[in-house]
Amino acid sequence: MPQDSQKPLNRRKFLGASSVALLAAAGVPVAAAQEKQSIRSTDHSSPNESQPGPKNGSLDAENPDSVWSPETDAGGQPPFKYSFSLAHKRIEEGGWTRQVTVRDLPISKKMAGVEMRLIAGGIRELHWHVGAEWALMLYGNARITAVDQHGRSNVSDIKEGDLWLFPGGIPHSIQGLGPDGCKFLLVFDDGNFNEFETFLLTDWMAHTPPEVLAKNFNVPAETFANVPKKELFIFKRDLPRPLDEERRQTEEGTGRVPNSFAFYTGQMQPTKVTKGGSVKIVDAKNFPATNIAAAIVTLKPGGLRELHWHPNEDEWQYYVSGRGRMTVFSAGAHARTMDFQAGDVGYIEKSMPHYVENTGNEDLVFIEVFPTPHYEDISLGEWLAHTPLRLVNEHIGVGEDVLKKISRQESVISPE
Ligand code: MN
Ligand code: MN
Repeated sequence: MPQDSQKPLNRRKFLGASSVALLAAAGVPVAAAQEKQSIRSTDHSSPNESQPGPKNGSLDAENPDSVWSPETDAGGQPPFKYSFSLAHKRIEEGGWTRQVTVRDLPISKKMAGVEMRLIAGGIRELHWHVGAEWALMLYGNARITAVDQHGRSNVSDIKEGDLWLFPGGIPHSIQGLGPDGCKFLLVFDDGNFNEFETFLLTDWMAHTPPEVLAKNFNVPAETFANVPKKELFIFKRDLPRPLDEERRQTEEGTGRVPNSFAFYTGQMQPTKVTKGGSVKIVDAKNFPATNIAAAIVTLKPGGLRELHWHPNEDEWQYYVSGRGRMTVFSAGAHARTMDFQAGDVGYIEKSMPHYVENTGNEDLVFIEVFPTPHYEDISLGEWLAHTPLRLVNEHIGVGEDVLKKISRQESVISPE
């Protein structure tokens, strides 16, 4: 900040302090006097804080940190939140889907997300796409199928809390199982991804001359008379056959993929547990098939995902349950706080520092996803703990005794 703009502020502070001293001497309580100095009141009742005219009360109630931001917020940080509740829902006979992409949330350049519901027997058509697909089962059960570049097969059943990864270009399908199908989250390492425009089996065959299909499989052209003229996308059929039977058939001649595309998060112990909550980190270290890293975070009421940043990649977030808030700070004195709840998407660009705080009365569960095989972060605490105490204290003046007590290892979730 240029010195000129600091001068009046400093003078105002000085006058403020001296007038508080005068009021204190006159018997006026200091706290009340200090509140008078602020242009904000704690209950937002000052005339300058009134909100006449139209307002959206329900949206305001969901976003208290936008309506009354912390006084530390400043500058023009672009929005980093979008809700699946605002996304168009495409409804088909076998279920529905909706997506949040860079077209909805402009800063989410490197990742996009999809929610999908499949009823029991509902099939997300055999397809592939250029980017990789990371998925988390949010409800129910599904059968996934995929074939790799060596013809090796992966057929797996996925339960709530488990996940999968389909590398880019690998063809796959998803089918809802009993008793009530499933709902899942998909995350793609491409902000411009479009779930409505993937490479579909039926779409491709409908756009290939029947005589070429006949030559390809060495059968008469009439064999393909029943190929749909239009994509199926999400359609309804009977439940699949037993898992063992479908595995045996698909693995014939080539075998199974060596590194499963399925990961059973439900059976994994948390990577870290503290008083404030827990985290499971799933990346290429424990899930070799993945080129997308993720952290599944649970914050207890009052818990804090500590101040940190990610030096290697952008972070895409999905909120599963509870309520929380996040402040993202960016260079040049920009900071903004936004509120999150179930179904919201958050996005933080590479190396931008942030925290997530549980502001509700129940657990806050959210997912951090990164378009890289390896999870990496740097926490404020870990940074300061491994920098000369003298130097840190010369910056922030909290005293070396306070600095000595900072944990030598990052806490991830506070309190420890
Ligand atoms: Mn897909
Ligand atoms: Mn983060």
